[in-house]
Amino acid sequence: MSVRDFSRKCTMSTPQERLDELIAKLKTREYRLTPQRIAILKILVASTEHPNVEQIYKDVKIDFPTTSLATVYKTVTLLKEMGEILELGFGSEGRRYDGNKPYPHPHLICIQCKHIIDPEVVALGELSQQVASTTGFRIVSHRLDFYGICPQCQEQENEPQASQ
Ligand code: ZN
Ligand code: MN
Repeated sequence: MSVRDFSRKCTMSTPQERLDELIAKLKTREYRLTPQRIAILKILVASTEHPNVEQIYKDVKIDFPTTSLATVYKTVTLLKEMGEILELGFGSEGRRYDGNKPYPHPHLICIQCKHIIDPEVVALGELSQQVASTTGFRIVSHRLDFYGICPQCQEQENEPQASQ
């Protein structure tokens, strides 16, 4: 994959378009699409929270209480193999997933509440090209994480503790 391929993949689609795309891709793999599996896909495309597997499991159980954690793991693993989900590993703090944007993109992580968002960053393509041209590497992927304290957590820090 060249640097150019990143930008080509970065097209925004609606959750419904993304869901249809995933369903079509899974069908060509003759993957059996049970209502539970479709529910897992829906949660992934609708979420901007970068959920972990446990969170997806908790959400899918609201409508499909018989879903197993193994089913969620299998679906996520398959999507990962297909390159249709972005996995963000945080060592002992576990793994989070982005099913909306499976291509590498920057993340902003709150070190207190562990909220993860996709910040708008311009000129990332330029950065990749610069890294490639100055090192001679053919860049195939990248990971860019910003760490900080989100506005909500900052507000809580500033509030006087009522109980103390
Ligand atoms: Zn926070
Ligand atoms: Mn993301």
